Amino acid sequence: MKRKPSRKASKPTPRPSKKASPKKQAPLLSRRMLISLAVSLILLLAVLLYVFNPFAAPVFDGNRAFQYLEQQCDFGPRFPGSPGHKACGDFLVSELGKFSDRVVENRFNYTDKRDSSIVYDGRNIVASFNLTPKLNYRVMLCAHWDTRQFADKDPDSTLHDQPVPGANDGASGVAVLLEMARILEQFPLDFGVDIILFDLEDAGDYGAAIDSDSLMPFCIGANHFANTQTSYRPRYGILLDMIGDKDLKIKKEAYSNYYAPQVVDRVWKAARKLNLDVFSDSLSDPIIDDHYPFLEKGIPVIDIIDFDYEYWHTTADTPDKCSPQSLQMIGDVLLEVLYPTEE
Ligand SMILES: [Zn+2]
Repeated sequence: MKRKPSRKASKPTPRPSKKASPKKQAPLLSRRMLISLAVSLILLLAVLLYVFNPFAAPVFDGNRAFQYLEQQCDFGPRFPGSPGHKACGDFLVSELGKFSDRVVENRFNYTDKRDSSIVYDGRNIVASFNLTPKLNYRVMLCAHWDTRQFADKDPDSTLHDQPVPGANDGASGVAVLLEMARILEQFPLDFGVDIILFDLEDAGDYGAAIDSDSLMPFCIGANHFANTQTSYRPRYGILLDMIGDKDLKIKKEAYSNYYAPQVVDRVWKAARKLNLDVFSDSLSDPIIDDHYPFLEKGIPVIDIIDFDYEYWHTTADTPDKCSPQSLQMIGDVLLEVLYPTEE
């Protein structure tokens, strides 16, 4: 059954008397204007607080970093000359371009020491934050992004000519730095930061000196960069290598500790503040890595590395051996170094 609408309800509201003076309507209008102005101001304030929240603090997202690790591995092996190397390099340039003020590729050619018919097309990728005004205080965060072509430490010797997937050895350090790039854009610092992804770190012959003429050295991209970009002298640098292992333990790398103790202290102090006991006070063996060419030039760069990795240079260096938690701990320490919290 449908109810008839009540007549009372449809009774029209009385019109204002024509006699009412327009002067009396003025305060009503201005009150309305005031209310809409106040609402607009509140909305504007809310938007400003959302965009420029002075209380917001940078937060590192280990899961997002882990997605970056998996994305790199999805390209397949990433040794120079491979399809994965080309595709992943393009992806890294594009991804860093979303967050940084400028991405520059430092390209170079390198002739293989074992076969002079092979010339590698090397790509060091440099993403800079806070370029203007020109600052002389810059910090370098770096990692190698290439992976090793031969899994020559695999327990199964028939796999020694297979490529390394490079989840930990390649993708892990880059993954943390890509997530850092997002934070650096969102929370600008008053000094400059350069994220540098070095190529051709992992093509070396074991035991080769960094400037070997007869053997293929490691750290070819970083060495090329340090030798050619001589005007680039960051105040300090932090290299991340093999930091994704589920069972993470970071010792103080011996070259870093000897040549850049002030940077080691800074990083380990940040780790202590966060109660991260994966940062151990014991010393590791010296490791020739991408920090070494910079140490030779007197630039203090340290290597954060967990070299105790069962799957190093094997076909089993896959994402399941790594964890978001490990990337989170490294990211948290970097944040504490760059954006120190109150004591
Ligand atoms: Zn390696």
